[in-house]
Amino acid sequence: MSQVEIKSKDEIALMREAGRIVCEILDELEKAVAPGVTTWELDALAEKLIYEKGARPAFKGYLGFPCCLCASINEEVVHGIPSKKRKLAQGDLMKLDFGVVYRGFFGDSARTVPVGKVSAEAQALVEATRQALEKGIAAAVPGNRLGDIGHAVQRHVEARGYSVARGFSGHGIGRKLHEQPEVNNHGEPGSGMKLRPGMTLAIEPMVNLGTWEVALLEDDWTAVTLDHKLSAHFEHTIVVTEHGPEVLTRRT
Ligand code: MG
Ligand code: MG
Repeated sequence: MSQVEIKSKDEIALMREAGRIVCEILDELEKAVAPGVTTWELDALAEKLIYEKGARPAFKGYLGFPCCLCASINEEVVHGIPSKKRKLAQGDLMKLDFGVVYRGFFGDSARTVPVGKVSAEAQALVEATRQALEKGIAAAVPGNRLGDIGHAVQRHVEARGYSVARGFSGHGIGRKLHEQPEVNNHGEPGSGMKLRPGMTLAIEPMVNLGTWEVALLEDDWTAVTLDHKLSAHFEHTIVVTEHGPEVLTRRT
């Protein structure tokens, strides 16, 4: 627990830059999502934009992941591998999970983007997941504990009849993509590590329409819901400040 790194003002300023780049590129990727587009094409666009902005990919090569973007569709929860064979179709839920490293610091963010018109059920899941992330962020204030973030997410999700995907969590972030602490999407209020100004966290609820259980596909990366029902994912990199949470991967 003691290995949680408190970032200095200068380090946070660099993380703000990394976060801005992540946000700008996700904006472009979101615009490019359309029926007929392959996840491979989205990854190629991500890679081009990363280098144009003077950054480097956070995911490519990470534990052997082959691409710059995690592209997960419908029942895929996280870590989908972009493919020339995977074409988006009207009604799909496209999860874009993306990160960069810039001047030594990482930013990490994810969005769920409906492809064209999606079902009312899918739209409601997306909205609830987006809101669950906001609830988690709002709980990231000094004096609160990690469990308060997880509890805020879980309560919002389960009150709507959805489940929090287990086996995956948010994380500390900074000079590394994944730092301590683990930021769970479930928890007990008042439990876990106390939050302090200068902690930088990636909060990322993965919310399933049905069961919380997930399975890993044979590619050893792609996580899917065990019941093959839809899943949604949103993520922001934030810094805990004396005045509350500051979101680094959002336009101000
Ligand atoms: Mg991510
Ligand atoms: Mg993350």
